[in-house]
Amino acid sequence: MSTTPFWGPDFNALAQEDPEIANVLLAELERVRGGLQLIASENFTSPAVLATLGSILSNKYAEGYPGKRYYGGCAEVDIAENIGIARAKELFGAEHANLQPHSGASANIAVYGAFTKPGDTVMAMSLPHGGHLTHGSKVNFSGKWFNIVSYGVRQDTEQIDYDEVRALAIQHKPKMIICGATAYPRLIDFAAFRSICDEVGAIMMVDAAHFIGLVAGKAIPSPVPYADVVSFTTHKVMRGPRGGMILCKAEHAAAIDKAVFPMMQGGPLMHAVAGKAVALKEAATPEYQAYAKQVIANAQALAAGLAAEGMRPVSGGTDTHLALIDLQGIGVNGTDAEARCDAARITLNKNAIPYDPQPPAVASGIRVGTPAVTTQGMGVPEMSVIASAIGEAVRDVDGSKAPEIAARVSELTSRFPAYAR
Ligand SMILES: *Cc1c(COP(=O)(O)O)cnc(C)c1O
Repeated sequence: MSTTPFWGPDFNALAQEDPEIANVLLAELERVRGGLQLIASENFTSPAVLATLGSILSNKYAEGYPGKRYYGGCAEVDIAENIGIARAKELFGAEHANLQPHSGASANIAVYGAFTKPGDTVMAMSLPHGGHLTHGSKVNFSGKWFNIVSYGVRQDTEQIDYDEVRALAIQHKPKMIICGATAYPRLIDFAAFRSICDEVGAIMMVDAAHFIGLVAGKAIPSPVPYADVVSFTTHKVMRGPRGGMILCKAEHAAAIDKAVFPMMQGGPLMHAVAGKAVALKEAATPEYQAYAKQVIANAQALAAGLAAEGMRPVSGGTDTHLALIDLQGIGVNGTDAEARCDAARITLNKNAIPYDPQPPAVASGIRVGTPAVTTQGMGVPEMSVIASAIGEAVRDVDGSKAPEIAARVSELTSRFPAYAR
């Protein structure tokens, strides 16, 4: 097989045709090479996945599923999607897999579509306690079209209150209960959710968008044996292309497939579906499993390092790839912390903490994640360098220390470059 097909991905062709956009790509590469990416939902996907994304598969219309398409000419893309489905079922021990959701939010819309009707009661984690927009936010379809009952974390442990979940489920008899979150650093007790769902006859949906990459690497327990349906993104810890995926029990396969297409989406993004297949192959390797374990070790080291800098990890630490950090003890809010770190080329996000006295636009905390820096090859020693850089940056009220901190950051990233030259 030729390793240089005519279509590229040809950066020189882009640079000639559209230098303005080519410059954005180059500047973004320099940005990620020169700074620390601690956004918990971001990562660096592999060159093989990028090559698939930048390929002619982007051109193909393939509405439907392999062997049952609404368009001709799908023989080749059928092979890619079938390989991806088989890899997903094998990697996660799932009875059925759908690789077509365009994103995590699209996957969630399809799950609602498969199991509920507008007006039904659905239980999910409250947003201020770490839930996602698609778990009932008033500005999202979920909050507009469904009767959402929210559960949260206990104020003392800052962990999910399973007694509250059970009591609310018995009281409200939801059609579906969602577990999974976007800013929850702890493991979720899937067996507890299963027994609550069985008790009230609810569908158990796990939104594993954040942590599925750790499950793929066998670094944390899997929700697949417990859940009716597991939705997730492929671009967070899992390190694949931007997109979504759904796993489910065989009995729900037809409902899920129909909900993804034609209920919620049109044609699949076949370049992304093929990219998911590539990422699934990568995720089945020993190297990936070592990465997944290191992501958690790094998050725990970073949380401990930040605690030593006077910043409190919510719930006392983390079992996963992210830590939520309460900055009230040092008198800095999340918005200022985010801006000050940004000035020092440390990219992270402000985040509400449970029972936050500040409005969400200000927030009392930050969220940090280790997938990207772990992909770059950093380990526990680098996490203490990062923790002290953050400790200095968040207290840098007038920005006078930012250049010096940024220089230390760039020294670190030059030793662990993203997309090495
Ligand atoms: C990121 C995330 C999503 C949405 O994924 P998108 O690809 O951004 O649409 C859904 N649920 C949870 C819990 C997430 O963290």
